[in-house]
Amino acid sequence: MTADVPTLLLMVIVSSVVMAAALLVLGWGRRQDGLQLWAAALLVSAVGYALYLLRGRIPDAWSVVLANALLSATLSGLLAAVHRFQDRPQRGAVLVVPPVATALLMALFQDSFALRVAVSAALMAAQVLWVLHALQAPGTAGRGARLLRAGLALEAAVLLLRSAWAAAFAGEGATLLQSHAVHTLTFMTAFIALLVTSMGFVFMGKDRADGINRRLAAQDELTGVANRRAIIAALDRDVARAQRTREPMALMMLDVDHFKQVNDRHGHLAGDAVLRTVAGVLRQRVRAQDIIGRYGGEEFLVVLPDTTQEGAHDLALQLCEAVQAAPCQWDGVPIPVTVSIGVVGGRLAASDHWDLLVHAADSALYRAKQGGRNRVGLAPGVERVVRRADAADCPTTFPSLL
Ligand code: GH3
Ligand code: MG
Ligand code: MG
Repeated sequence: MTADVPTLLLMVIVSSVVMAAALLVLGWGRRQDGLQLWAAALLVSAVGYALYLLRGRIPDAWSVVLANALLSATLSGLLAAVHRFQDRPQRGAVLVVPPVATALLMALFQDSFALRVAVSAALMAAQVLWVLHALQAPGTAGRGARLLRAGLALEAAVLLLRSAWAAAFAGEGATLLQSHAVHTLTFMTAFIALLVTSMGFVFMGKDRADGINRRLAAQDELTGVANRRAIIAALDRDVARAQRTREPMALMMLDVDHFKQVNDRHGHLAGDAVLRTVAGVLRQRVRAQDIIGRYGGEEFLVVLPDTTQEGAHDLALQLCEAVQAAPCQWDGVPIPVTVSIGVVGGRLAASDHWDLLVHAADSALYRAKQGGRNRVGLAPGVERVVRRADAADCPTTFPSLL
């Protein structure tokens, strides 16, 4: 089945221009996404295909040499856009050499259509594969990148097929604008790849922005640990999992001792640095599956799945020591820091709720503060906590464990 080549070319030209305009609007003010470079590349391709369309009506130096060089420059532009997205340095030579080499080779083989097509299609396939290779770098995962890779892989496969066909079968009488199955496949694929890859590239930017927003929505800005909403959500999830698996779990509530004095003596910025230091020590000490979150001003929660009360108690003692051993350096002056920790742990009953654990850990923390600070307070264990809460018939208003 063949289609009229000029019509196909016209389709590719119009869609390239429309897509470039859309990308310019979408990429306005978002230079880091590389959409402007992508749009510029599409406009260059539109000019290249327009010169193809005028084959026979304008000199071959334009319709053969310049047109192929522009299509090669398009692929250099796509590579530059991907590099911009990845915040990698642009190397001019990498971008300029392929179009210049294409122009020279086209001028050299101007008399043989078959040779020209074989060479230019192979060169362009290599450039497409180069863009695909650039997309292997970290930070380019997600649905958008997958779509982009699929479009590029399709384009590379068809270009290689076109090159092989030209080398093996294209007779001397063959021309660009005659109806032929390979031309139909080539320009139809160019049209599809243009849409799929451009959409993929736009979605890559969206995927990245979504990831940043998700992280910001769950992260405490000052310390980088989970914020209150995220740590409660994690606790709720782990409570449900512990109930399902009947594994024990533990919760720590940690509070910086005499933190108000730090603010009063050294200022709030020093206080902020102390909070970052404490969060850093916690991060270094807990396991990958444990989750740290900032519950309030200078209070942190640590959710410990698959952990017994004893295990959590040992870890809490280590954390107290580690925080004390790592004073916060502020303006070259060490600010001593200690923390008190309330610990609760054990096996949960099916009806237990996360706020029961928070209450118990809070009460244990109060006990540690009363005991003189820089120490660990232990709740009587989840089983006893639950029994007492049941007796009070209201787990969420659990009475003090003291
Ligand atoms: P205790 O040993 O009993 O825990 O005493 P404390 O001084 O640590 O506790 P208190 O509740 O009296 O003081 C907590 C202080 O934490 C008061 C508040 O101004 C300060 N704070 C809360 N959030 C922040 C923050 O994000 N940055 C700074 N620098 N200070 C904060
Ligand atoms: Mg405190
Ligand atoms: Mg406090």
